[in-house]
Amino acid sequence: MKEYGFQFDNSYLNLPDRFYTRLDPLPVAAPDMVILNDDLAASMGLDFSNLSKKEQAALFAGNSLPESSESFAQAYAGHQFGHFTMLGDGRAHIWGEHITPDKKRLDIQFKGSGRTSYSRSADGRAALGPMLREYIISEAMHALGIPTTRSLAVVTTGEDVFRETLLPGAILTRIATSHIRVGTFEFAAAQGDKDLVETLLDYTIDRHDPDLKEAKNKALSFLKSVMERQADLIVHWMRVGFIHGVMNTDNMAISGETIDYGPCAFMDAYDPNTVFSSIDHMGRYAYANQPVIAQWNIARLAEALLPLIDENIDKAVQLAEETVNAFPVLYKNKWLTMMRTKLGLFGTQSADEQLISDLLDWMQKTRADYTNTFRDLSQNGKPSGKIYEAKAFADWYARWQKRLQQNTKPIKSSLCLMKNSNPAVIPRNHKVEEILETANAGDLKPFRDLLSALKEPYKDREALKPYQSPPASNERVYQTFCGT
Ligand code: AMP
Ligand code: MG
Repeated sequence: MKEYGFQFDNSYLNLPDRFYTRLDPLPVAAPDMVILNDDLAASMGLDFSNLSKKEQAALFAGNSLPESSESFAQAYAGHQFGHFTMLGDGRAHIWGEHITPDKKRLDIQFKGSGRTSYSRSADGRAALGPMLREYIISEAMHALGIPTTRSLAVVTTGEDVFRETLLPGAILTRIATSHIRVGTFEFAAAQGDKDLVETLLDYTIDRHDPDLKEAKNKALSFLKSVMERQADLIVHWMRVGFIHGVMNTDNMAISGETIDYGPCAFMDAYDPNTVFSSIDHMGRYAYANQPVIAQWNIARLAEALLPLIDENIDKAVQLAEETVNAFPVLYKNKWLTMMRTKLGLFGTQSADEQLISDLLDWMQKTRADYTNTFRDLSQNGKPSGKIYEAKAFADWYARWQKRLQQNTKPIKSSLCLMKNSNPAVIPRNHKVEEILETANAGDLKPFRDLLSALKEPYKDREALKPYQSPPASNERVYQTFCGT
């Protein structure tokens, strides 16, 4: 039966059962629909229009799942802030893999759907604020053209969850091309069974890297492929000033999608050391440290794959090291290419890097707003505003103009390139906090308004105005909480 358009094909359950536990979400008292992503549903070939709001809420709370779903929680491990831990989905259930009309395989997952065998002492639930935060930021990332998990729905449960205070409970329905993480491979490797890692590798290659099926050294080619995707992803994050906040290896998806929106936030004033997360005391996951951490996480993946890279362990280590050590150069080249698009530069010149870093240095010194500065530069003509009157900026601007004149393409093309790389709007943290507060108090209009502004982030328009200013000093939010 094709209930609401669902076409389940649960390939993950063909893996050895150590990789998951079959179990149903725990029903909740009084589910109520908060938001349904109609556009996403339509693009997945799903249609819930025949359901009443109440029936929709029962579906997206897990009180009445489609008959063809087979829910399970995943096993995985992870390095959290550098320390290895056994984890697993402590409050998430995958309903199954849905095959879309254009034959894409997508995991449909609940977050906040009750305790599982991996919950340890935690309650298995989630609060409304953090689920709406994931909803709005993941959808903003998608609109920004950044690989990400998506959000299909949020319901409230009618039950309170206790964090520091009592908060309304909620469940998010998350969509991902898979939930296989670096930590899934670490889990397999920690079982001390090479065959288990190999089974997972073959499965993952089938799902994410089918081109590698015939590769001579599958494990090594896979490592390179994951590394390439991560480098691309981090470059995107750096482009828009996104700080993930908890880049633990269990939060790094093999697919190259951004996953797990906890204490993440976008930077306002440019400062490479920016950290928002309240639990990141050492700045491990600061803005500028993200590429370094990505490489560190890839090294953990490499370790898990070692026995498959070569039977001779010394040879395996040598090959893995060579691969992982190539990350900085790989990343740097991609970053430079991206920064050239932010400045409308066509072709490559050796002085480009200096031009870019001088602008960034000036921005850091003057605490210039990252998003607005690049957007101002994307307009035709010299930007106006007090900050741009300084001599240091004028000197840089003259150098940039000279470089633009040496472009292989006309200025119109540069402006177009810049406007498509430099968003006019991002989900600024103070605005996100503001709309979550009103949503918690029962008013969703500000949430929906911001969501709608974020749908087309590269298009200037009047409706963006309320969301474009950096926070005034009394509005600034310095810390974000996992709050979960
Ligand atoms: P996160 O920091 O969200 O990636 O979560 C890390 C681990 O803790 C994952 O295995 C989660 O499933 C688990 N977890 C987080 N919050 C809860 C909760 N409220 N109840 C049970 N498990 C949780
Ligand atoms: Mg996680």
